Amino acid sequence: MTPYVRAKKHLGQHFLVDQNIARKIVDALQEKNRETLEIGPGTGVLTQFLKPEFPHFLVSEIDTESVEFLREKFPDLNIIEGDFLKLDMVSLFKSELSIIGNFPYNISSQILFKVLENRNMVVEVVGMFQKEVAQRIASPSGSKEYGILSVLMQAYYNIEYLFSVSPDVFSPPPKVQSGVVRFVRKENFVLPCNEKLFFQVVKTTFNQRRKTIRNSIKPLTVDRTKIDDFYLNNRPEQLNVDQFVEICQMLEA
Ligand code: SAH
Repeated sequence: MTPYVRAKKHLGQHFLVDQNIARKIVDALQEKNRETLEIGPGTGVLTQFLKPEFPHFLVSEIDTESVEFLREKFPDLNIIEGDFLKLDMVSLFKSELSIIGNFPYNISSQILFKVLENRNMVVEVVGMFQKEVAQRIASPSGSKEYGILSVLMQAYYNIEYLFSVSPDVFSPPPKVQSGVVRFVRKENFVLPCNEKLFFQVVKTTFNQRRKTIRNSIKPLTVDRTKIDDFYLNNRPEQLNVDQFVEICQMLEA
C-alpha cells in the first residue's frame, strides 16, 4: 500500500492538486539538460513531469513521510533526504544547476538567500512563492514592495513574474495567494564593485527604508562624504541596482 502523507503545517505543506498548473510550472523551466534540483517535492506532483524529461534530476525533501511516499511512487528517484537549507551545494553539484519547486513558504527568503550565496552555480530558478513575495522580488525601485531581496535578486538575475495561483488548487488550501516566478542569471553576474560591500549597503540602508541614505547608512562605518548628494538625499527604496553599485564605487574610490 502507498504510504499516506499527512499535511504538516510546520513544513509549509500545501499539496498542489491541479495537474495543469503543475505542467505549466514544469514547462516554465527552460533548460532541460542541466543538473536540476526540485526543492520540496512532497507527493511528487511536479516530480512526475520533471523526472522523465530532465535527465539529471534530483530532489531535496525534509519530510520522512513524503520521502517514503516518493520512494514507493518513483523507485529510481534520486532523493536527498534532509533540510535543503543545510545542503552543501558545492560538493553535490559539478558546476551549473537549475532549481525548481513549489517552495515551502515559511522558508522562502532563506531559499532565496541560499540561491544568492550559490549564484556562481545556480543559473535558473522556477518557483512558486507566496504571491506577495513573488511580486516583491520582481518589483522595480520606487514601488512599496521593493526591498532587500528585490535589489539583491535583480542584481544577478533577470526576473519574470509568470502567473498567479489561487488557494483552491492546493490541499489543504493556504491562506494566501501564490505566484510563480522565473529567474535567469544574467550574462555578466559579477558586479563592478566590492560585492560584500554591496550586500552590506543594501541590507543596512533597507533596515531603515523610510530614512534617506544619509541616515540609513550610518550603522556602516564608511565615509559618507564620498557619496554624491543625489544618492544621500534618496531613500533606499528609490534606488535601483545600478545606483547601489554606484554608491559602492564611490565608497571604494
Ligand atoms: N511540491 C509539492 C509540495 C509543496 S509543499 C506540491 O507542489 O504539492 C512544500 C514541500 O517542501 C513539502 O513537501 C515539505 O515537506 C517540503 N519542505 C519543507 N521544508 C523543507 C526543507 N527545509 N528542505 C526540503 N524540503 C522542505
